[in-house]
Amino acid sequence: IAMYALKGKQPERVLFYNHQLEENLRSKVLLQEALNNALARHELRLVFQPIVDAETFAIRSFEALLRWKRGTQIIEPSVFIPIAERSGQIVNIGYWVLEEACKTLAHVPSDDTSIAVNVSIVQFQDQQFVAKISRLLETYHINPGRLHIEVTESLFHSGQSDLTEKIIWLQRKGIKISIDDFGTGYSSLSVIQNLNIDFVKIDRSFIQKIEDKGLAIVEAVMNMSHSLNFRIIAEGVESEEQARLLQRCGIHYMQGFLFSQPVEMVDVFRLAGKTIPLPQAS
Ligand code: C2E
Ligand code: MG
Ligand code: MG
Repeated sequence: IAMYALKGKQPERVLFYNHQLEENLRSKVLLQEALNNALARHELRLVFQPIVDAETFAIRSFEALLRWKRGTQIIEPSVFIPIAERSGQIVNIGYWVLEEACKTLAHVPSDDTSIAVNVSIVQFQDQQFVAKISRLLETYHINPGRLHIEVTESLFHSGQSDLTEKIIWLQRKGIKISIDDFGTGYSSLSVIQNLNIDFVKIDRSFIQKIEDKGLAIVEAVMNMSHSLNFRIIAEGVESEEQARLLQRCGIHYMQGFLFSQPVEMVDVFRLAGKTIPLPQAS
């Protein structure tokens, strides 16, 4: 138990067994079992967080985010996604997410609204991945440019040899690729150098520190975006002050609690294409 607790994290360290470790493992195993039935029991659903144009605050897209409710218990994505990734369950769950996103897009009246879906490394390892996505787009008659796929930089360190080809294939099809949590991985720059990424999402941690050194980092990424031709989304914008500073940098899009919490699917139909009003600065 102690060995598995350290594996993949800090293998160079020593850890002694204690009861808490066993409890953690037990709860992970229980969650993994419960996750097997979560789809069939309709315990999973998607919520959608608006991403707005930084100039006009008009909603341009929504990020689809998974939610798991077991009876009265709410299990956070940060808890169950890693479990589903390790067990491989994320492959099926991920297809369900993609299908739900396509169904939602099919019902959104405004054709220039997109949906961004988070995709894990394990999903890319499935040989059927690209074929299944293109079948979904055909089934629901979706313009591929309306589907954005969010990947994290860790994807590019997974050692998958055909990864770049898969991403290029998706882009040729018209699907847009976003790099999520940009700046938190260990070789962010090589990723944007080697691929023609469509969107870069600057991680929330830099936006939180924008009044300090975060601003210099945002400005540097802005400069790169001009020559490397990608658009920038600031994640986790919570205050008007942050929004103002980001606007001054010329950032393209913003997402965060200042504009909206993630909303239910019905609200996507209502909000698509609308502008989010902010309280007037006094
Ligand atoms: P992410 O893709 O970086 O998603 C953004 C997270 O930041 C969401 O957390 C969102 O609710 C939160 N957030 C948005 N605005 C703000 C803000 O202004 N302040 C703060 N403090 N937080 C904000 P959530 O929904 O808990 O998701 C956590 C992570 O779980 C996601 O991070 C993503 O990596 C993963 N995830 C969620 N849904 C899926 C999915 O369908 N598939 C996969 N593979 N991963 C998913
Ligand atoms: Mg994301
Ligand atoms: Mg993110």
